[in-house]
Amino acid sequence: MDNNQSLFERAQRVIPGGVNSPVRAFKAVGGTPRFVQRAQGPYFWDANGKQYIDYIGSWGPIILGHGHPAVVEAVQKAMLDGFSFGAPTEREVELAEEILKLVPSMDMVRLVSSGTEAAMSAIRLARGATGRKKLIKFEGCYHGHADALLVKAGSGLATNGLATSAGVPPEVVQHTLVLEYNNILQLEEAFALHGPELACLMIEPIAGNMNFVRASVPFMRRCRELCTAHGALFVFDEVMTGFRVHLGGAQAVYAQQIPGFEPDMTVMGKVIGGGMPLAAFGGKREVMNLLAPLGAVYQAGTLSGNPVATACGLATLKEIQQPGFWAGLEAKTQSLVDGLKAAAAQADVPFSADCQGGMFGFFLFPDLPQNYATVMKTDSAKFNTLFHGLLDRGIYIAPALYEAGFVSAAHTDADIAATVAAAAEVFQLLSK
Ligand SMILES: *Cc1c(COP(=O)(O)O)cnc(C)c1O
Repeated sequence: MDNNQSLFERAQRVIPGGVNSPVRAFKAVGGTPRFVQRAQGPYFWDANGKQYIDYIGSWGPIILGHGHPAVVEAVQKAMLDGFSFGAPTEREVELAEEILKLVPSMDMVRLVSSGTEAAMSAIRLARGATGRKKLIKFEGCYHGHADALLVKAGSGLATNGLATSAGVPPEVVQHTLVLEYNNILQLEEAFALHGPELACLMIEPIAGNMNFVRASVPFMRRCRELCTAHGALFVFDEVMTGFRVHLGGAQAVYAQQIPGFEPDMTVMGKVIGGGMPLAAFGGKREVMNLLAPLGAVYQAGTLSGNPVATACGLATLKEIQQPGFWAGLEAKTQSLVDGLKAAAAQADVPFSADCQGGMFGFFLFPDLPQNYATVMKTDSAKFNTLFHGLLDRGIYIAPALYEAGFVSAAHTDADIAATVAAAAEVFQLLSK
């Protein structure tokens, strides 16, 4: 009796596709999604009681591992004081102060409940602040599912982007320009054509929704220069990378390579909630003061700054500031990546991999890709063999080749070694 299968059948009768977010359905890789019964540290157990080493961590938030005692205690304590008030609390102020301390490009921040909401609100604010309509995004970057962001490139820069979802009228995406990631020439062309109409440029600085692809330093520098020159706001979507690739987010990583570098606005989520629904967007004071109730840009939320979620986020942010935390996390992630590379080389499987902080990606070809089109050239049959081979061996990676992976502070050296050993077996299957 497969409890995952029977739960999935039950789920499909009452929830579209049996899941509340599409990638959970294993549609890309086939097979039955694992229904999680409970999780602890770097592991979770499915409905059959089978244990997995978890490299998704709720798609990033679980940077401390599941059920970290300090986080659990903070959440339990907060719950006893009430779940939600619809009135302000001290903890929201504390969390805002903490975020601004760690990400100094922001003067002010507003808390919301999901990354989608944060990105959508940031764009409304950018449009309100500039009085302009157009925005730039990049193919393969995901910024949540707001209508104006569900768009892919049209046939050329002169044509409008195309909606990637039914239910999004062409008029709603007509102001969204979709460009190729890391393509400086195209970026320059877009600013030359549309500069005065651009409200903002939004980017995943290290893209985690087309597996793991870094924006090159020259590309990032050019984005910054062009936004400044044309008066468009440069918006970093750090929902995935914030507090995940570095204590100061991806912007701190780029600031090490581009002196004085900072974005105008930042969108955050995932780790700041520690696994609870919490996200944020922030930026310079003069822009943030345009938000309601001070300004004319409306934005609101019944559960925004939720007292239990903020307790979870605060406890998580406190733990990731402990001495040695980042060095430890980086070393683990690096040893996973190095181990996978060595195992693939041993089996003669073309392979490349990259990581930053506690986030990683790997590819079944020899060179790291620079954009979405290259990522999507991955042999999906081979990826599926790898995915299911690992799953059978108790290793849970993202069930799609265009997703990044995550290591938590709770993963042990033995977990990493077991993962590399499992991968070595599966690479043998791939090399045949
Ligand atoms: C996950 C993610 C989002 C969307 O966040 P939700 O909380 O799922 O709405 C937006 N941007 C990036 C970069 C993400 O990784």
